[in-house]
Formats: sequence, structure tokens, C-alpha cells
Amino acid sequence: MKIYSSFIFMLCFSFSLIAQEKIKIVSSASMFTDMAKNIMTDDFDISTIVPVGGDPHKYNARPSDANTVSKADIVLVNGLTFEGWITELIENSGTKATIVTLTDGVTPISSLDYANSSDPHAWMDVENTFIYIQNIRDVLVQYKPSAKDQIDKNYEAYKAELMALDQEIKDKIESIPVDKRVLITSHDAFQYFGSKYGLRLEAIMGISTEAEAQTSDITRVAKVIKESKVPSVFIESTINPKMLKQIAKDNKVSIGGELFADSLDDPEKPAGTYIGMLRHNTNTIVEGLTKEVTSENDEDVKDLLSPSNMPVGLKIVLSVAILGIILMVLLKRRNP
Ligand SMILES: [Zn+2]
Repeated sequence: MKIYSSFIFMLCFSFSLIAQEKIKIVSSASMFTDMAKNIMTDDFDISTIVPVGGDPHKYNARPSDANTVSKADIVLVNGLTFEGWITELIENSGTKATIVTLTDGVTPISSLDYANSSDPHAWMDVENTFIYIQNIRDVLVQYKPSAKDQIDKNYEAYKAELMALDQEIKDKIESIPVDKRVLITSHDAFQYFGSKYGLRLEAIMGISTEAEAQTSDITRVAKVIKESKVPSVFIESTINPKMLKQIAKDNKVSIGGELFADSLDDPEKPAGTYIGMLRHNTNTIVEGLTKEVTSENDEDVKDLLSPSNMPVGLKIVLSVAILGIILMVLLKRRNP
């Protein structure tokens, strides 16, 4: 019995040692975590700071984040001031981790809103993501040289998938009539996507979600909708859709759907991976921009005609009218 229990103890102890030996990666946002998961081996463990659906532009770091970062071996950040809060978090945590700036090597697009600053959303152009995954591969190999072959294999396979995705996006966007290739969203997360795949961008807010939209922004966007005659505008998963919905209503266009930029969707959903997110966005954009322009706001009309949403007055009028028709038919039958 004694031998047994000490054997079990030894077993647990060595298992925990094996578990502890995993190299800990912490990533700022879900899309970078997914990229790393595609390349890393079982020697690594990864966690994400900003939860799915959270806004990495204005995240409030929790004390547990400092704890996670302090224990990390590798921290993956986008850079280009995407995660303004992360420098302080890293400093406060006292971590000895290697900080990898995933946009190192990317040619940034300058911000349209702020002088001397760059747009952080570089991952929205798949070609830039080739650089992100190179940076991830390099740090993985640096930490686990013995797994280089497997890491390289994973990297090559993932890169091939990304190349196919890049082509797929190009082909799909080209199916939109040229004059309708205008993407109206909440914030400027799609400049890289637009300049790569040929869409003109108009956003209510700038590249960060921190600034409030001004009346002048709403007027500007309304003017673009009128001039380009686009049938849809698009909401974003990490941003309150209230203002965009109001703009859609005022300008009699529909909501083309929800786009993902600064966070993936839940893991089991189609936009739950980086590739899935870009594919979902592309399909949503193509569908939204190629549908017929309706003079009425179709959503409102549909809502009004559904029995559950019908105003009581309208229900009474309709019921009386139907009853009247039935009575008239019955009376006619009796007195032909
Ligand atoms: Zn953003």
C-alpha cells in the first residue's frame, strides 16, 4: 500500500513537472492567439488577455492579468499603439518574458486621424499576417529549438492556408460592382483590408474606438451613403452598434451584418478563428454590398408585418376587415 501511494505521488509529481515545463505564451488579443495555436507544438501553452468580444483599444487590465504576464515566457503584442495599456501592464508585472511585437517588419499605413501615428490593424491584410506568423515562428524556435522541424511544418501548412485565403478574398471582393466597393463601418479597422483588396473606407470613428463620433462625422458618412448609393453599412462586434443603426435608419439603408476586426467570435462560431473571421467579413461585405437598394427600410417593414410586432390598432383594423369580408361572402351566398 505504501509503495503504491508513493508511486502515485511520484507519478503526480513528475506529471506536474511536465506540466510546469510548458513554455507560457500570453497574447494580447484572440486573433494573435489563434495564429500562434496554428504554429506552436505541445511544448507551449497560450492564454489571451482581452476576452473574446472585448475591445483591445480600451481594455482595463485586471490584477490577474499582471499575474499571468509575470509568469509568461513570451508575450505577443500587436504594437502600433493597438494596446495602449500593455506597456504599463508589462512594467507593473515585472515579467522577464520576451516581448514580441508582431507588426515588426510590417509597412504600416499612416493614421488618417492622428499625425505621426500608424494604423494598428495590420492583420486585416493577409499578406501582413505572413509577417506576424514569421515573428511567432521565430520566437517559438528560439524557445524550443528541438521542436524546430514540427514548428516549421506547422508554419508552412498555415501559410499555405493563408495564401489561399488571400486569393479567395481578392476574388470575392472583385465580384462587387466597382462603384459599390465602399465599406461603411463604426471605426477605421479596415484601412489595410480596403487598401489591399480594393474597398474605399468610411468610418464614423477613427482608428481607435476611444474618441466619440462627432456630428460632422455623421454628416460625412451620410453624404457618402447618398453619393455611392450603397445598400448597406456594417456594425462591428466590439463596438456598440447604436449610432450605426441610427445612421442606417436615417439614410434608409440596411445593416449588412456584423464584422469582426479587433476580436474573434466565440471559438465554435464561423468567425472564431483568424481565417474564419476574414472569410466571414468578406462574405458579409459581398452580400451586403451586392443586394438591391430598397427605398424603404426593409427591416422596419418586415418588423411591422410580423404579427408579434404589429401595433394593437393595426391588429384590430385587420381583424375587423377580415371579419367584414367573411360576413359579406356569407351574406352574398344567402341572398344571391
Ligand atoms: Zn480597432
